[in-house]
Amino acid sequence: MSHVFPRHTKSSLPTVAKGDGVYLYDHSGKAYFDGSGGAAVSCLGHGDRDVTDAIKAQLDQVAFAHTSFFTSDPAEQLADKLIAHAPEGIDRVYLVSGGSEAMEAALKLARQYFVETGQPQRRHVIARRQSYHGNTLGALATGGNEWRRAPFSPLLVETTHISPCFEYRGKRDDESTSDYGLRVANELEAEILRLGEDAVIAFVAEPVVGATAGAVPAVEGYFKRIREICDTYGVLLILDEVMCGMGRTGTLFASEQEGINPDIVAVAKGLGAGYQPIGAMLCSAKIYAAIEQGSGFFQHGHTYVGHPTASAAGLAVLTKLTDGGLVDKCAVMGAKLQSGLMQAFGQHPNIGDIRGRGLFHGIEFVEDRETKRPFAPERALHKALKKETFEAGLICYPMGGTIDGKQGDHILLAPPFIMEDRHIDEIISKLQTAIARVL
Ligand code: PLP
Repeated sequence: MSHVFPRHTKSSLPTVAKGDGVYLYDHSGKAYFDGSGGAAVSCLGHGDRDVTDAIKAQLDQVAFAHTSFFTSDPAEQLADKLIAHAPEGIDRVYLVSGGSEAMEAALKLARQYFVETGQPQRRHVIARRQSYHGNTLGALATGGNEWRRAPFSPLLVETTHISPCFEYRGKRDDESTSDYGLRVANELEAEILRLGEDAVIAFVAEPVVGATAGAVPAVEGYFKRIREICDTYGVLLILDEVMCGMGRTGTLFASEQEGINPDIVAVAKGLGAGYQPIGAMLCSAKIYAAIEQGSGFFQHGHTYVGHPTASAAGLAVLTKLTDGGLVDKCAVMGAKLQSGLMQAFGQHPNIGDIRGRGLFHGIEFVEDRETKRPFAPERALHKALKKETFEAGLICYPMGGTIDGKQGDHILLAPPFIMEDRHIDEIISKLQTAIARVL
């Protein structure tokens, strides 16, 4: 009997035995194309020697030293490299162990910034209904996924949620795409005014929504208007790039494609690429200065912040993404995957939307393409899709329709940036097999 506490206590999973390039293998020797990198983690695929060598070398030097006593070379170098590629104005890096931790640090830093600058009355955070920001209580409160929140709602800090920017589901027939973007962005202004002009700490959003919605980018102009509203009311803009950052959308930071700069940005998943648990919260010079000139102490911390071995892994990964040209490769392969998916499934009667950027794609399934009516939730189509794709030797990340009670089931594809043209055919043919079995 296993003593591991699994996520799903009623299901039994194969045991992973090996990873090599774009494939994972179980103990029976079956190969699985890692089409989602777990959930957008394994951007370099598996068994990358540059990264494993960097980790081993660091372990031979020093595995860990607490940040109350030391900084470390890999942490310093990783921070420098992140800042060299970060959005304008971003100047400092706080290294943590994952995405939820990065978001917790972001929320606490935003609040402390206003305490240090004499605005302690600011206490509200605004986020969007279609979002996931992590599973720790602060991050969970910020996320808008009702199913994830429900059992813990009495423990969650009150956060208000506005509409997402989701063209396929949200745009009315009588409005243009840009009018739609402005309409939903303006909900932020209305919410700030409702809560009080000087009562809001931050607005939190994923530039390309991942797990809850399936790779949904905002429409052009949406984030520019959001930035404008934040500036008008002195509200900080926190971007959650835990899933969509680190090259996944074809640029190192997804926000680059929106033409705006955040005040705080969180990254994780692709930063460690699965080789080590690592995340980072990056903040602007203005926010750091407020702490430096104020109390001089960020009132936060975990034992493993700035972990040297995790930092060495992050540095090796980031070097491959930037200097090694893998972000550019992601953009090129992403365009090819997008057109392959459109060709194969663009007219499928039960596929309503194929969307995404870079190697980050969502496929939304509907019962009726004309009306966009989703399948009945009891059918749990996404679970059947997960099972059949896995059977066919393809890993993709499924999610059921939950948003405002009307979104369809979707699957998320986030394959490794090292994939080649032939892998596009492999993904498509395995998807075709699985979809035919399920529908
Ligand atoms: N934010 C986003 C956008 C995510 O997709 C996730 C994880 O899926 C998180 C935060 C939480 O990250 P972690 O699971 O590493 O704590």
